[in-house]
Amino acid sequence: MVYENPDQVMVGLEVHVQLNKAATKMFCGCTTHYTDKETNTCLCPGCLALPGTTPVLNENSVNFAIKIGLALNAEIETETDFYMKNYFYPDLGNGYQVTQFDKPIVKNGRIVIEGEDGELTVRIRRAHMEDDPGKLAHIGTIDKSSGTLIDFNRSGMPLVEIVTEPDMRSAKEARRFLDKLRSILEYLDVVDGSLEGSIKADANVSVYRGTRVEVKNISSHKAVEKAINYEIMRQKDMIRKGNKLVQETRHFDEDRNITISLRVKETADDYRYFPDFDLVPLDVSDRIEGIRAAMPELPDAKRERFVSQYSISDAHAKGLTSEKAFADLFESVAQKIDPKTAASWVADVVKGELNYRDLPVTSINAPAIIEIVEMVARKEISEESGIAVLRTLLDEGGTPKEIVASKGLLMVEDNFIETAAKEAVAESPDAVADYKAGTEKALNFIVGKVMQKAKGKADARLAREMVLKELEKL
Ligand code: ZN
Ligand code: MN
Repeated sequence: MVYENPDQVMVGLEVHVQLNKAATKMFCGCTTHYTDKETNTCLCPGCLALPGTTPVLNENSVNFAIKIGLALNAEIETETDFYMKNYFYPDLGNGYQVTQFDKPIVKNGRIVIEGEDGELTVRIRRAHMEDDPGKLAHIGTIDKSSGTLIDFNRSGMPLVEIVTEPDMRSAKEARRFLDKLRSILEYLDVVDGSLEGSIKADANVSVYRGTRVEVKNISSHKAVEKAINYEIMRQKDMIRKGNKLVQETRHFDEDRNITISLRVKETADDYRYFPDFDLVPLDVSDRIEGIRAAMPELPDAKRERFVSQYSISDAHAKGLTSEKAFADLFESVAQKIDPKTAASWVADVVKGELNYRDLPVTSINAPAIIEIVEMVARKEISEESGIAVLRTLLDEGGTPKEIVASKGLLMVEDNFIETAAKEAVAESPDAVADYKAGTEKALNFIVGKVMQKAKGKADARLAREMVLKELEKL
């Protein structure tokens, strides 16, 4: 099937990834863990760009950028350098951003995602290192703000900016790209994507191969989809009304769900890129192979391994590997119990209950899941009770054994079911007659009676078997 794209929607992304797993900022010794700190406390003269300070490049930032490049199946530029991107903005202490220009450390990569019509390869044009400016807080909305505050804690944070080709053809594909990218980056342990603003995207959107408009600084994956959809609609609307689109930069207002014009797009010339005279050219050739050798297993590879090693379905493998912590949880559980059972418990039940409660995977551990699943397997509790135990554990804490005891979930003994089946058959002459006359449904009535006697704590399949055995005797 050929994907239909009559509106010629083209979406390219520029994704800024904050390397918050690096211990220190890009050019000084300040901590990268600033989000829970007082404003303007994670600072030094260096990241404030006070006169007389010079940057010292941190090795970590470079290693992380190389790691990202290798994970994106890209080429690593062995000789690379830094430029000054000049512009005035109050959050930029030194009046320029340190970034890369014509020799980005990473180029020509790709990520394969699930597109609207099957696999889609999104090409990565480049990825470069740069530092983050401080943060402005606008009072009210950005276009009608009465005042602005500055927090420099973020100033000097190491970033990698990943630039794609315009290979996505819908907002949904852009979102899937970001989901996949985030998953890869978290596997690499270079970013904690749950921290606000750690992964931000600019989207370049055009329709009918017309003028390209950039929507800046979209901070969540959900917002990316909304912003792009809004932008596609706005552009088509403009064209239908005979208006000309201008090449511009727009801002997505998450509260109002619209994009608004910020400025007419600047070009590279406007930034007067100069080689950064404080930083020497960087030769990374001697560290690439070491980093390659230490690369972790990435989502796609793990997914394929799960399918072949554990004989689980591709859908389960996909669900389990989207987050590394989930994949690890599954593998711990699968050490002790049948992998297929483990996959359906972890991917379907556990993941579902965690998502429903918006809880992280760390809210549950492998031994607890193993205990629950083993109790179900031994028929000590029913499968429904197993799920109830998991829910209680997530809501109130405790151990599976304690919960089973306090809620009285232990299943009744087999001989109790046998007795109950005998009684149920004896007490239901009409249903028995109906069943004998060929009304299959009558069986359910009798089994229901057994379950009632066991107060639901019987294995329904066993109850059914016992009832059938009794009926055969008649
Ligand atoms: Zn600093
Ligand atoms: Mn940038």
